[in-house]
Amino acid sequence: RLREELASWTGPAATLDGLPLKLLANVADGSSAESAGVEPVQGVGLFRTELCFLDQKNEPTVEEQADIYSAVLAPYADGRYVVVRTLDAGSDKPIAFATHEGEENPALGVRGLRLSFDNPGLMDRQLDGIAAAAKSTGTETWVMAPMVATVAEATDFAEKVRARGLKPGVMVEIPSAALLAHRMLEVVDFLSIGTNDLTQYTMAADRMATDLAHLTDPWQPAVLQLIAITAHAGKEAGKPVGVCGEAAADPLLATALIGMGISSLSMAARAVRPVGAQLSRVSLETCEAAAEAALGAPDPMAARAAVREVLGH
Ligand code: PEP
Ligand code: MG
Repeated sequence: RLREELASWTGPAATLDGLPLKLLANVADGSSAESAGVEPVQGVGLFRTELCFLDQKNEPTVEEQADIYSAVLAPYADGRYVVVRTLDAGSDKPIAFATHEGEENPALGVRGLRLSFDNPGLMDRQLDGIAAAAKSTGTETWVMAPMVATVAEATDFAEKVRARGLKPGVMVEIPSAALLAHRMLEVVDFLSIGTNDLTQYTMAADRMATDLAHLTDPWQPAVLQLIAITAHAGKEAGKPVGVCGEAAADPLLATALIGMGISSLSMAARAVRPVGAQLSRVSLETCEAAAEAALGAPDPMAARAAVREVLGH
């Protein structure tokens, strides 16, 4: 029966009791943006711009960047929106023209937004390219920075994005950002939780280390608590808080995330239908019970079992 529902579910996303939900796609370039655009999504929740530059020796010009970004924005000029993430180079995503060489701990080093500390021009030129693409396509464009640790960083970033007429947000990938979510929301328009890195930094376990998979699990109670804190801050502020890490693609966890008050889920295009179908089968009240069950569980296995029980699986 589930398989039939999966095949027949075509959106738009809503809970069983009719609460509209936002499902978004994670994309890497123009072609993935185009193919994701035919799924029942309201837009792109994470455009990983660094993936466009993995094999580039030199930084593309503003004009070249604008062309690349336009290809991603264009399929969503039909009233949908795209969240562009500024360069998240470094650590697991080395980029020749940006990454700092020879760091002992690259995951804790100069990566993401931090690359702009000693090279502000890199960020400025990228924002100019994004702004040009937003203008030429007419697509509603939000811009967020990865690896934000402090409110001061969020403040500086928001100022640069607003100066270009775009909507600023930050990713919540570092526990400090989750704990300060309410203050982050005083200076930006939205938050997006990157559960892959948030889990890595909360559990101090390398996201690439397969032998630490029991720790790099977004169902860990400490990670769920940080997500709940961030979602709560969003509700208090009346501003969107999404999830764009792998956790959003887990249909079971998605119910708990919606129950916590998360306002959008962004995932690989292939996950949209399974997640949408699952959410269409539960009420908001059930999602809230799922969130409470997950948050109260002592470990990831118990949390999964508790949510399954709430859902009657
Ligand atoms: C994350 O960290 O969860 C995230 C969405 O960003 P990335 O996987 O690109 O680091
Ligand atoms: Mg990340």
